[in-house]
Amino acid sequence: MSVQLPEEARTMLEKALSSEGLRSTRQREQVFAVLLQKRDHPTADEVYARVRDKLESISLATVYNCLETLVQCGLVRAVNYEREPTRFCPNLSEHAHFQDRKTGRVYDVDLPDELMEQLRDILPDGYEADSIELYFHGQNMSESNRTNPSSNNQKKAK
Ligand SMILES: [Zn+2]
Repeated sequence: MSVQLPEEARTMLEKALSSEGLRSTRQREQVFAVLLQKRDHPTADEVYARVRDKLESISLATVYNCLETLVQCGLVRAVNYEREPTRFCPNLSEHAHFQDRKTGRVYDVDLPDELMEQLRDILPDGYEADSIELYFHGQNMSESNRTNPSSNNQKKAK
């Protein structure tokens, strides 16, 4: 059974694809629907597993292609934490990403407009940023206070 893509999202998808000279396909729709359904920054493999539940015939290569297309037409952001597979995020408002070191989960962090303006202002004269990517790493301190700190020995050396 396939996921129903909401009408609004379908229109958005068709518009974004056609601006790149592309057409909407069942595969692209399903990949987009899966990303919108559970916004937990899945990797391509995770997206593949979810889409395969709905569209058995789809291949991993097709899922990769669909994700690439969605990123290319600006509907989805690629989230890259070093040494980890790319994750995908359909949140189009300006936001940063926070990764919990312990669980590996990635969360959206809203960025106030004033902060973004300040960030753009610190560039050298004559430069303008097309995009700003902010990545946070850390942990939930309220949680780590309750657990044994010695069990958390996977600190990344930088
Ligand atoms: Zn995100």
